[in-house]
Amino acid sequence: MDNLVALTCPNCGAATTNHNNCEYCGSLLVRFVDKRIDINQTNYSANAETFVGMEQVLEAQYKRMEEGRADVFCSIVNGFDGSPIIYTTSTHNLGNITSNYDYKTNGIAINYITGINKEQDKKFVEMDFFPLFTFADKNADGQRYYWINFGKDYKNAARILYRIIVEVFGINPNVTLEYTIWSYINYNKCIGWQEGGQNVSEKFIYECYRGGKNETLRKTFENDSSIFGLEKKKKMIGNTVLTVRIIAIIILAIPGIALALFLLIGTIVRLFR
Ligand SMILES: [Zn+2]
Repeated sequence: MDNLVALTCPNCGAATTNHNNCEYCGSLLVRFVDKRIDINQTNYSANAETFVGMEQVLEAQYKRMEEGRADVFCSIVNGFDGSPIIYTTSTHNLGNITSNYDYKTNGIAINYITGINKEQDKKFVEMDFFPLFTFADKNADGQRYYWINFGKDYKNAARILYRIIVEVFGINPNVTLEYTIWSYINYNKCIGWQEGGQNVSEKFIYECYRGGKNETLRKTFENDSSIFGLEKKKKMIGNTVLTVRIIAIIILAIPGIALALFLLIGTIVRLFR
């Protein structure tokens, strides 16, 4: 979002007219300046806490978007094969809850739903980053959706996510998190819902990362799976065509075989008369 008024980026010091992500360094910290929040009162300095490995995972997630993969999302769970905490998604998926977003630019986004845990909601709205969220919609149950698109600033995304996980959700900062990035390749090239994107995908990929505080990020596996693949569909169609052909041959052959048997039996009977 370009604005005529230039702001001084708290990260690199440049004058930026992009009030979402500094046009020079991509930092989302300019949003605090835009919202007139004193950056010195926030916790996003170079020493800001974050989960070890989270930045790299978010960077990898962003990279998948740049590679043209679609529906890129990352689930973050508490411990190995643990319970889900939150998931980060590609900006394009925000189309599920709002039309008020920049769907042409890749970005890491999250949405927060109120009305599930009142205690957490109270903490969420009190956080210094809350003004950076945009209210999307309210559903029939009165739950409210708030979203944020971090852009490609995975560094500050990790810092804000850390504070959501630790301060809002109350999860122990020493926990070891597990991340799984899910993405589709060879997707229908349309971007976003507003350009008529469809769930046409040839390959579905997931990558799993395990790492937390005091533990080095390591990639445990990457698996290409064609469970939704066209390859499989083509094979199925091929098998169906083959089955139809075999049935057709059998049906067509029956009268011929019957006639041959009739003539054979007739000949045998005549011979032995
Ligand atoms: Zn900057």
